[in-house]
Parts: sequence; C-alpha cells; structure tokens
Amino acid sequence: MGERANIGRTLHFANALLPGGWASDVRIGVADGVVSAIAADEPARPDDERHAIGLPGMSNLHSHAFQRGMAGLAESRGASDDSFWTWRETMYRFVDRIDPDQLQAIAALAYAEMLETGFTRVGEFHYLHHDPKGDAYADPACMSQAIMAAAAESGIALTHLPVFYAHGGFGGAAPSPAQRRFVHDLDGFAALLGAVRSAAAQLTDAIVGVAPHSLRAVTADQLRALAAMAGTAPIHIHIAEQRREVDDCLAWCGRRPVEWLLDEMPVDAGWCLVHATHMTPTEAVRLAASGAVAGLCPITEANLGDGIFAAAPFLAAGGRFGIGSDSNVMIDVTEELRWLEYGQRLAGQARNVWASAPGRSSGEDMFIGAVAGGAQALGVAAGLVVGGAADLFSVDAEHPSLAGKSLSTILDGLVFAGGRGAIDTVWCRGEKRVSGGRHHARDELAARYRRVLSALTA
Ligand code: ZN
Repeated sequence: MGERANIGRTLHFANALLPGGWASDVRIGVADGVVSAIAADEPARPDDERHAIGLPGMSNLHSHAFQRGMAGLAESRGASDDSFWTWRETMYRFVDRIDPDQLQAIAALAYAEMLETGFTRVGEFHYLHHDPKGDAYADPACMSQAIMAAAAESGIALTHLPVFYAHGGFGGAAPSPAQRRFVHDLDGFAALLGAVRSAAAQLTDAIVGVAPHSLRAVTADQLRALAAMAGTAPIHIHIAEQRREVDDCLAWCGRRPVEWLLDEMPVDAGWCLVHATHMTPTEAVRLAASGAVAGLCPITEANLGDGIFAAAPFLAAGGRFGIGSDSNVMIDVTEELRWLEYGQRLAGQARNVWASAPGRSSGEDMFIGAVAGGAQALGVAAGLVVGGAADLFSVDAEHPSLAGKSLSTILDGLVFAGGRGAIDTVWCRGEKRVSGGRHHARDELAARYRRVLSALTA
C-alpha cells in the first residue's frame, strides 16, 4: 500500500515545524524509513517532492481500536442514570462477540482513519485477549496478532500495550462474567507478554509496553510485579477517570487514586497515567514532578461525561501530556486538541489556557506538547530529528482556514478553524499512506469494516 518510491528520497517543505521551531525551505532526507538529514534555508532541488507546510506526526497515546465499532451505538438514553458505567455495559455486550478477524478489520480502519488525521503511531491499550467463552486461544497472543496485522495493513507504527486485568474492583474483588475475555493471573500474563514480544519483533519499529488496566483491576502486589516485567518499556494505566473510582479508592485505602499511585509506585518518565481527570491541585503538581505523562483523551472524556482535567496547576508545574483517541468515537487530532482547550475555557470561563506565556499560540503549544509527551509515552523520539522515524504530515496551505496566517498562527488555523479537512499528505516511516486527506486503502478497509459491523450488530 505504501509508495516504495518515497524511500531514499528528499521531501522539501516551504515551512516545517522542527524541534527548534518553525524553519523555512526545509529539505528532509528519508532513507529506510528514518530521517537521514534535515537542512533549513535550502531551496528545493529538481528531484525533491515539494509540499508547503510540514508537521511532525502525532502519537496517539491511548486507543482501544475495537471500540471504533461501537461508535454511535451508545448515544440513546437508558432507563436509569446514563453514565460511564452504562456505556461500559454496552461495550461489554459488543465484546461478547468479536473474533480475531473482526478485530483486525475494525482496527485496520481505525488506524487508517488515525493516519488520515496526522496520527502516525498508536498506543494500543489492548485488553481483549481471550475467546468469547473466556478461554485462552490456542495462540494466547492471537488477538494481539490481529492488532499487529491491522497496524501493518494500515501502515501506522504500533506501541502495543497488553493489559493485565485481574479484578472487578478495588482490593482484589472478583471479576464479573462480562470481564472474562480480559482476565489473567500473573503467570498467564507473563506468557502472553513473551508471545507478544516475539510477534512484535516481526513488525517494523513496534514497541511492547505493559498496561495494568486500573487500580480497580490490579492489586498493589500485582502492580509491582508488572512494573518489574515492563523493565524500561512504557507502563500505562487508566486512573481517576470517574468520580466513583475516586470514591471507591478513598473507601478502600483512604487515599485518592493518583495520590495512592504516586505514594506507592516508582512512577517516573516511563509511565503514562491515562485520564488522571480527578486530581486535587496537590496531586496535579506531584504528577507533574514525577515526569510521567498525563494521557488526555478529551473527545472520549466528553463523550463519557468523565470531567475536566486539572490543567492549570499541572501545566504551571511543567507537567507533560499527550493525546489519545481512546474509545475512537471520533478520530481526529485537531478535534482532540480543540476539545483540550475548549474544555478548559468552558470550565474556567477563560481563554488560551494551554498557551504557555503571553503571546504564545494555544494551538502551537498544545501541538508541540502533545508531540513530545505522546512520543515519550509510546517510547520513541519526538518530532523530526535525524535518526528518528520519518513520521510526518503536510497541511494544505491553500485551505481557506490558513489564509492570512503567519507561521505563529498556522496551528491555530489548523486546530481551531480548519480541522482535519486541511490535512493533505501523511508519511509513516517515510511511506506515503495518505494523499489528499484519504488513506490509500480507505475504500477496501471501509468495505470490509461495513461487512464486519453488519455481522456484529445483526
Ligand atoms: Zn481507555
């Protein structure tokens, strides 16, 4: 699906966002999927492939790909209070049925859609391990293999995060029957992790981390064992997404989830705390000081009615963050960033909360921060650097939303005004996967996705 012709070639951008800021007349050499050279203030040469505006690819630090298939299926009012917990029941009914081929079909379309909006690496927080009866597949990594196949088909880079899930509530409560496809003991999980690591070695540039699902689903001893299994690989955990989770944690141990984790575990730059929605200012400052990444998923957090992240104290303390498409109810880099800022504006009756200083652009500071934090969370180098992956995208300079913009306001035009309609070409590891905003395999992936959805919802 990729265009091999782009390997070993040079891309030229009239303007590109490099780690040091905007640069003009930027030539980027690409060889074997890696950036081999970057030079600014160099006019295009005849063989260069020319584009107007170049941006580093964005990491999607938190995805449950299969949930793309239930997008739009949980938006009718239920009999009782509609909440995250009723949404979760819909999700459990959906996952009762899905098989490895269906998972691959759904994930491949989701990943193609991610590429279309500028995501070039996905952190797949993968908990759907067992067959519908709850038994291990003959190959315990069968469902992970489906995720890897989907990543390979779409061309997105993968940080695979197999999830350890053992309990149905704080303090080691028994899991519910609806959770039977997720559950392991530590020995079973170690076997899965070994199989996943072997399989991932066959995939270009894949990274395997470890994901304790949440403090609801693991005990303290299990969490320590999982941190040891991860070694230097990324560790991701859902935390403090819902008020009920905070209340249950307080009832269990007298401390709040983020407070407990920072007290009890060696949380550092290798960790990603997904959501971390409900924090006191003290917790926010402590999380920032740990160097861990806050994995923010504003579209999903809005869709699920989770709440709003404590951005002001976290950012003031230098906290690191990235964005994730999580439930994949909508997949769109610019929409995630727009909601990141708009949530803060609505909650705080303030503007430009995410801008780091007077005169700074909200769109640019969010974009740069999310590129850096997302890459950190997924275990790769951030931005366009020599020796790093050639993961980048171009924006259509003729799009009306970019008219009249200077370099310092291009990203505001993209995030707040243009949206994904302004995204033109996307390369992952130097291979062009998206042209004119469309993934090269969109038609076939979408046709297969429609067939699978028909079967799953019949
Ligand atoms: Zn999640």
